[in-house]
Amino acid sequence: MYSIFLGAPGAGKGTQATAIAQKLNLAHIASGDLFRQALKRGTGLGRQAKNYIEKGELVPNEIATHMVLERMSAPDSEKGTVLDGFPRNLEQAKALDKALARKSLEIDNVISIKVSEEELQKRLGGRRICHRCQTVYNIVESPPHVEGKCDKCEGKLYQRPDDTAETIKKRLEIYFEHTAPLIDYYRRKGKLIEVDGEETVDEVTRRTVAALNERWLIAR
Ligand code: AMP
Repeated sequence: MYSIFLGAPGAGKGTQATAIAQKLNLAHIASGDLFRQALKRGTGLGRQAKNYIEKGELVPNEIATHMVLERMSAPDSEKGTVLDGFPRNLEQAKALDKALARKSLEIDNVISIKVSEEELQKRLGGRRICHRCQTVYNIVESPPHVEGKCDKCEGKLYQRPDDTAETIKKRLEIYFEHTAPLIDYYRRKGKLIEVDGEETVDEVTRRTVAALNERWLIAR
């Protein structure tokens, strides 16, 4: 099964994509994480992407598409993937459709997580992430028990360097201009599942699973 999670930065698509990939035993492919790993390792890909990520801009389509398609050809992706952060615009979506069609495959469903802009601003400004297990906290709405420390693994929490006010503004602008049109693109193809992202994390997961099950039953 090939699924895509769509949502603005801060909508919780990473958290939900992780949960759903685990439940369905599918590979979770997060383009932002792949770029951050490349940056950390100082690879050629990391160097190519660095400036764009720091400014909150999209990395050029050829680079992002090549990176994700290559990751999707790894053995753990054979049963399907949960894509998170890719595609980010129409050109990437079409390149993905084409690549899958070459293998007689297609995207099965696209989960769009809806969150108001006001809530997104709040979440991104207060977001802190565990460097070890990647659990996401919000210092205002869902702080850890001990400041700066992960409740689950005691890892140190960090703030993403692109979670600054100016970069957040840029990333949200880019989302609404380039990524949000994909909601209609996949709706027209009959692939779209819309989920309210302002419920609790567990409730969003529960509703997503229920919607996927329903689609699966209808498709059979
Ligand atoms: P994310 O973790 O998904 O918020 O992504 C962090 C940053 O990585 C984005 O602001 C972009 O600079 C870059 N990025 C991630 N995915 C893509 C993509 N599909 N296309 C272009 N740039 C991307």
